[in-house]
Amino acid sequence: PHPSFRGRRALVTGAGKGIGRAVAVALSKAGARVTALSRTAADLESLVRECPGIEPLCLDLADWDATEAAVAAAGPFELLVNNAAVAVLQPFLEVTREALQRSLDVNFGAVLHVSQIVARQMIAQGVPGAIVNVSSQASQRALRDHTVYCSTKSALDMLSKVMAMELGPHKIRVNTVNPTVVMTDMGRINWSDPQKSAAMINRIPLGKFAEVDDVVNSILFLLSDKSAMTTGSSLMVDGGFLVS
Ligand code: NDP
Repeated sequence: PHPSFRGRRALVTGAGKGIGRAVAVALSKAGARVTALSRTAADLESLVRECPGIEPLCLDLADWDATEAAVAAAGPFELLVNNAAVAVLQPFLEVTREALQRSLDVNFGAVLHVSQIVARQMIAQGVPGAIVNVSSQASQRALRDHTVYCSTKSALDMLSKVMAMELGPHKIRVNTVNPTVVMTDMGRINWSDPQKSAAMINRIPLGKFAEVDDVVNSILFLLSDKSAMTTGSSLMVDGGFLVS
């Protein structure tokens, strides 16, 4: 484990399933005091059973006011992983207002808002901090049926750069990880069709999708003091997709 995590307080959003859950477990095992935020209570209950040190926080991040109160009360934190997101795939001509609003609220608005709350507390305490936003290869490449998802992730990359600029003087680093497809629930719903997944794998130089651990390791690197001079950057975990 990274010595830089011992005793540090960490908030991980979307920690009920998939990548966020694995990040919460890894940080807890590395000695951090982890608060796991997610929407479905049963997921958090099973996470706490698996990893009893973790503090659960059950919340829908699309609810701005509930988020303000709950996250402020759970803090302060030195580490933040904005991982929660939704992927509603629709052809451009069929994008609905509901899908647009939900995706903007969760994938973009909640990252901005949670980061504001956490960064204000970091600054008030005068402690250095690290924030990792979970973006995607989809932030930098157009993908069919991904109008809203690509756009929210692209906005997230730019949000992260402006945050890095404004929060740097407060010793708060902000970076993104940008994975290719990972076969979590989200990945399975959108990439189980063998023809569709084969076409994507053919465009990835390493010839495979990413594993959850590939993403977790990159997030832990960007949270840790091993990346002390890195801020405003995006770490691709894409097997080379973006250079192909
Ligand atoms: P999953 O869908 O497997 O897990 C997402 C988690 O976020 C769930 O626990 C979900 O809870 C939670 N969540 C979603 N919306 C909210 C909300 N409004 N409030 C609170 N919690 C919420 O996704 P992944 O683990 O695959 O994805 C994690 C991150 O990685 C996302 O940012 C995603 O965009 C990104 N990513 C994923 C890729 C993939 O192929 N899987 C590829 C590239 C990036 P619930 O289920 O209860 O709603």
